[in-house]
Amino acid sequence: MKKRLFTPGPTPVPENVMLRMAAPIIHHRNPEFMEILTRVHEDLKYLFRTTQPVVVLSCSGTGGMEATISSLFKQGDKVITVNAGKFGERWGELVRIFTGNCVEEKVAWGSAIQSERLAELLKEHPDAKGVCLTHSETSTGTAADIQTLSALIREQSDALVLVDGITAVGAHEFHFDDWGVDICITGSQKGLMMPPGLALVAVSERAQDIIKRQSMTQYYLSLKHALKAHAGDDTPFTPAVSLVIGLDEALQMIKAEGIEHIWKRHESLADACRQGCHALGMKLFSNSPSFAVTPVWLPEGVKWAAFNKALKNSNGITVAAGQDDYKDKIFRISHLGFYDELDMLTVIGGIERALKEINFPFEIGAGVSAVQKAFLGN
Ligand SMILES: *Cc1c(COP(=O)(O)O)cnc(C)c1O
Repeated sequence: MKKRLFTPGPTPVPENVMLRMAAPIIHHRNPEFMEILTRVHEDLKYLFRTTQPVVVLSCSGTGGMEATISSLFKQGDKVITVNAGKFGERWGELVRIFTGNCVEEKVAWGSAIQSERLAELLKEHPDAKGVCLTHSETSTGTAADIQTLSALIREQSDALVLVDGITAVGAHEFHFDDWGVDICITGSQKGLMMPPGLALVAVSERAQDIIKRQSMTQYYLSLKHALKAHAGDDTPFTPAVSLVIGLDEALQMIKAEGIEHIWKRHESLADACRQGCHALGMKLFSNSPSFAVTPVWLPEGVKWAAFNKALKNSNGITVAAGQDDYKDKIFRISHLGFYDELDMLTVIGGIERALKEINFPFEIGAGVSAVQKAFLGN
């Protein structure tokens, strides 16, 4: 049986990326590797829409978040974090460890923070040194309007705008420079179509100035070290050589398709996925859906364990479970990274087969038909 991965990280890795990484290892001080790293640094600027440095850290996405908080802030610094799900919650946990002064704003799962509420928070906390946002909250499949929120923060305060873009970069329109963002992070195993192991962090000029002045609280996950090495197209420690080489290949694919086209493709795949689920009588979870992952309520009477087993064992399909309070209530279908229109027919078709296996009543072909119509027109 073919294995078909529809999870929001890890995501499927294209064959040419895997083949590049299978070549014999080279030394990271070789001119051959230096050339690759220099090109990766350049192409990451294209991805993030920035002229500022984007550093490559050898860790998963969370390492990029930790490096951000520990490099920018010191004990006592007040930082506002928005917790609209598991990953927004993580921002708060990091801030509490490194500064001990976190203003955490909880937002109901499935919703994004509204600008009116953020404006109130900024007014209440004029001394905030940063605001931590999540562009695409993966646990709830919900997208926030980073362009509007960032403009608001810039207008009302001097706080840095920190964006977890881990499932948004490469799925949602994003302009690091034009939107006035100070930090944006992504991870290799998400929109970049790579195995896990790299965090990519874009750093604004304003953030670079602060990092330079800050005394270090971390040695390895330090943006100060990383930025200094980046200036010479180098890394402070041995980089994950094979992953950087794979990233070079993935970035060539991204450039060949074009970033605007990639954003549109994700929007269209997400739309078709939602229509397919809707046609099967399933309710959508988010009121501001992400283009990376579609969260769906499990229909009345459908148990996650039985549904997941039918999907996996009979169809080779892995989707993601709900998290925390929504563990047995929702499931999440990813279309982030290396996916096309036929993949959406596959996953909705697989869901139909699983529903049939567990005797859930629905009209056979309704979901697949809705996906076809979404792409081909009615
Ligand atoms: C996956 C993810 C993370 C965590 O990344 P790891 O690579 O698992 O450390 C953080 N934020 C969001 C929005 C994510 O989707």
